[in-house]
Amino acid sequence: MYSAGDVRIENVPDPKIVEPSDAVIRVTRACVCGSDLWPYQKMERSDTGRLMGHEAIGVVEDVGADVRTIKRGDFVIMPFAFSDGTCAFCHDGLQTSCVHGGFFGTTDVAGAQAEAVRIPLADGTLFPVRANTDDALMASLLTLSDVMGTGHHAAVIARVTPGKSVAVVGDGAVGLCAVIAAKRLGAEQIIILGRHADRIALAKDFGATDVVSERGDAALERIRELTGGYGVQSVLECVGLEQAVNTAISIARPGGAVGRVGVPQEQTIPGSEPAFYNNVTVGGGPAPVRAYIEDLLPDVLEGKIEPGRVFDRTVALDDVPDGYRAMNDREAIKVMVTP
Ligand SMILES: [Zn+2]
Repeated sequence: MYSAGDVRIENVPDPKIVEPSDAVIRVTRACVCGSDLWPYQKMERSDTGRLMGHEAIGVVEDVGADVRTIKRGDFVIMPFAFSDGTCAFCHDGLQTSCVHGGFFGTTDVAGAQAEAVRIPLADGTLFPVRANTDDALMASLLTLSDVMGTGHHAAVIARVTPGKSVAVVGDGAVGLCAVIAAKRLGAEQIIILGRHADRIALAKDFGATDVVSERGDAALERIRELTGGYGVQSVLECVGLEQAVNTAISIARPGGAVGRVGVPQEQTIPGSEPAFYNNVTVGGGPAPVRAYIEDLLPDVLEGKIEPGRVFDRTVALDDVPDGYRAMNDREAIKVMVTP
């Protein structure tokens, strides 16, 4: 990506082992993320460009001399952040704060919308899947690289437990995965806030019990009606825009919690007063998806959850620019890339 709206497919040198802890994977599937749309809308022109993409599954082609657990030929999930797996934060299951870690697809680290990608700290970063995997499972396995783990994080931070009332703000791929996560953790009522018919239909399939298509005060009113006048116990905020965060805080009932996973587009958190007077806990951040693969993978392998259904378009590498356009125009929920 060279600037807002300017995505090109170019030949670049093949990634290779730089540090002895690196691996190189051949990407079998990647995708375009909702968070890739922020630079797609706002990025300043750059002469060198940014190698995009932070979600992939693939096969290990090469490993550095110090790599111990990852082997050539392993089929792996690449979380969107790399991490050493050994520092204090990795031990706490918060690999996105790894002291040696970082994010794929930034100006410093090449991304995965490519035929191959270099993986720093391969032992800590990559999750090898050694079970037999059917081709039909690939889309769902790919979501463990980001969106499914991110939706799950929103549910964990919002303290979803059996029997609770939940609202999901946002009907993009993460919001839809957040519905799956809320259902999986036993929520009794799951209200999705969204207005696109195809997304709403999928949300209902995933377990949403109610749909609120209003916005702002009207949404608040409707949610109060649906929850005996109080609001919901858990809110999963999956957008990141000021209005969405405001709505999320205002629909939480006193003592409730908001799990934020939408990448914020503002410097400050709105809703300070309602959050304070209602004792609403507001938390969240980049999901430690590396930690969550352990929990979520068995359910994907057994077909108990099917987050791969969020992909409604598949493109080859050459058509990635059109994939960005389709997601930005909301023609597609999420675009898979098959290099
Ligand atoms: Zn670490």
